Amino acid sequence: MATRHDTVALLAHIPLPPLDLLSDARARGAQCIWGGEPLTTATAIDLGERVTNDAHWFPRACLRCTRSAVRAARNSHPGQCEQCVDGTALCETRHALHDLLLELRR
Ligand SMILES: [Zn+2]
Ligand SMILES: [Zn+2]
Repeated sequence: MATRHDTVALLAHIPLPPLDLLSDARARGAQCIWGGEPLTTATAIDLGERVTNDAHWFPRACLRCTRSAVRAARNSHPGQCEQCVDGTALCETRHALHDLLLELRR
């Protein structure tokens, strides 16, 4: 599945499991970063480049796990965001996470 550039930018804010706890296959994007499902180019969702201790890696995930990670990020976001304290309707990040979630439902 192809992702738009702003989707990748947004996914960069979604917390991932720590690199040193991941198997080799997960760390290099052969398997879903969360569930370990085998991925193909057609099914994988690119989570953007990450840098951990100077190591550059490119995690990927399956649609189902990405959807629940985005949902969790959207739900926990307002508690960590100053903008959202004034009202979630004003927050662009929350809107973007919400739109991404709708996009992933398709
Ligand atoms: Zn998965
Ligand atoms: Zn916010």
